[in-house]
Amino acid sequence: MKLKVGLPTYDEFVAEGRITYPGGRAESLRIRSRSGRSISSSWAVFKPSPLGKPFGRFHVERWEMVGLYPDITEAITVAGRVGGTYRIWVEGWGGPMEVVADGKRMVVESPFTFSGRIRTETWVGRGFHWERKEVALYEGTFHAHAWGDGVKVVLETDVERYVAAVAASEMHPNAPAEALKAQAVAARTNLVRTAGKHHPNEPYDICAEDHCQVFRGFHILDENIVRTVGETAGWVLTYGGEPIEARYSKSCGGITETFSVVWGEVDRPYSPSFRDWSVDEGYDASTEEGFRQFYAVEDSFCNVSFPPIENLYRWEVSYTHDEMARMLEPLGVGKVLALVAEGRGRSGRIHTLRVVGDRCERTVKGEYAIRELLGKPFLPSSAFIVDNDGERFILRGMGWGHGVGMCQMGAIGMALGGHDYRSILRHYYRGASMERMWHR
Ligand SMILES: [Zn+2]
Ligand SMILES: [Zn+2]
Repeated sequence: MKLKVGLPTYDEFVAEGRITYPGGRAESLRIRSRSGRSISSSWAVFKPSPLGKPFGRFHVERWEMVGLYPDITEAITVAGRVGGTYRIWVEGWGGPMEVVADGKRMVVESPFTFSGRIRTETWVGRGFHWERKEVALYEGTFHAHAWGDGVKVVLETDVERYVAAVAASEMHPNAPAEALKAQAVAARTNLVRTAGKHHPNEPYDICAEDHCQVFRGFHILDENIVRTVGETAGWVLTYGGEPIEARYSKSCGGITETFSVVWGEVDRPYSPSFRDWSVDEGYDASTEEGFRQFYAVEDSFCNVSFPPIENLYRWEVSYTHDEMARMLEPLGVGKVLALVAEGRGRSGRIHTLRVVGDRCERTVKGEYAIRELLGKPFLPSSAFIVDNDGERFILRGMGWGHGVGMCQMGAIGMALGGHDYRSILRHYYRGASMERMWHR
């Protein structure tokens, strides 16, 4: 089965490799937009359509566009009248492009389709402080579209190669086979859940960014990974007949967390909080006392040594009082006197933190904001306790990431302990079923 992935937008798309295009072959390609269009947005109203399935058999819903409206109030009124929905609609697709193939210049209409195995420089984390350029390797069929002044390239590729690349980069290409397979099923589940939903008016199923699922190309793949992941081809996790939201993070720290603690959302039945171990002894790290008790516990699937990946099962960070005051300066509380956990999940993750200063107090909400506030640039997790020895604040923590769903270090630990990917998935996604969406 083929998948269309929306790669980042390029000012100019430059590629090298073995390229085949209508009318020739080339080793280098440069594509620029000549459309002169600007990118503008309006509101699109859709009504339910009885037609088709955009992607896989789960996505039975399909929408027909009723019209475009510059004003949201009008869009809401129209949507109410037709029993439909409304979405922001971005225009700027199409128009002429200039293509230079091995020095041969031509002007073509969008989309310009070519195929091959290419290398291209691509932006990672554009607009964030960590943005940088990276060389990416892609293969398949490419559709280059003028997108305003830029070029948007859509990669059409085999869905299982895509899943293998995502699994290898989200976990580690050297991770044990059964852990990689579990990661592949989670990535495929998220693909099926997301594809076709976030980009209704764009010519691809899924984007390559965080918005849908991060995809950085095929450089990470070797044939061994493709073969291993291929053994799970088509399998996804479902609950109540729907693909689940298969969350995962690096390390839970020994107890997994729930959706509501991390995202303030409704909890998912398949992602309760549980011990990342073969037995649940009833530990609860949501109180300071319970946290300190659990901090000493070593029996967890994620307390495993797997050298290419750092094990942050337990960690410690300390700051002098001066450093802490500087770091928390944006809060304006003055000299920091204490950090008080006002609310924790069972994994010990703090979702509400009270910062007590000599001028005033401030409350910080959300595990992500707390990690950003107290880390350089990020604390591994918000599951920590604070000790103050008079000179320094010492933060002792557990785990890495939000801790909801599959614990990736734990999956590696289980795989090394002889569990297969089905048993790993049963452990991390409680009560979820395995269903096959397609065969290779
Ligand atoms: Zn997206
Ligand atoms: Zn874990």
